[in-house]
Amino acid sequence: MIKAKDSVALDKLFFTSGDEIFKFNDNVEIHLDKARSKDFYKLLDNITHTGNHSGPTKWSKRLSLNEDSWSNIFNSLKTVCKENKLREFHFKFIHRIIVTKRELLKFGIKNDEECLYCGQSDSIEHTSIECTLTKTFVSNVLQWFDSTNACRITPPTAEILFGVFGNSHDKKTTGKFNYTILFMRHYLYSNKINEKSISLKEFVQKVEHKYRLGSIN
Ligand SMILES: [Zn+2]
Repeated sequence: MIKAKDSVALDKLFFTSGDEIFKFNDNVEIHLDKARSKDFYKLLDNITHTGNHSGPTKWSKRLSLNEDSWSNIFNSLKTVCKENKLREFHFKFIHRIIVTKRELLKFGIKNDEECLYCGQSDSIEHTSIECTLTKTFVSNVLQWFDSTNACRITPPTAEILFGVFGNSHDKKTTGKFNYTILFMRHYLYSNKINEKSISLKEFVQKVEHKYRLGSIN
């Protein structure tokens, strides 16, 4: 069982329930107290990348994502950026092995499941799709991206969460966009879990710094 004193490292853990072992599929179990980055990379290389895993299946119930979409999303795990931390987050997000206050309440780490930003019930869906404050922030980021890159990308929810694929825009812009929204999702997730406010100005400073470092593949 995870203790409150360990809560600092919560976003590094692999879990979706109170079990110490996360059953990834019929053949793979992740030991929550022992899982390290190398285990994650092994999974990345070895698992069959289809939408049949439990995380993608749950996402597909809410979003229109078919097998081709999942194939593109899984391929993007290796190509979206050079940063291991972000790729690991992308993987966890796809498989829904991330925590919100709903899971923290279940673990006895928080006393309620109210969203830090809007006060409604928190959950993976709420944090990613429904929260009014998050939606406003995402819309501001999309506007900022369009104006600084002289483009017009109007992604549906599934593409805001997992990336844009196809040839509607040039390859460089699509790559930059997919990196930016992954960085945005990680920014939202880590600020929320660390109980920090979110700001477009801070986000832009951070993502532009990453562009300069050449983080995009
Ligand atoms: Zn909210």
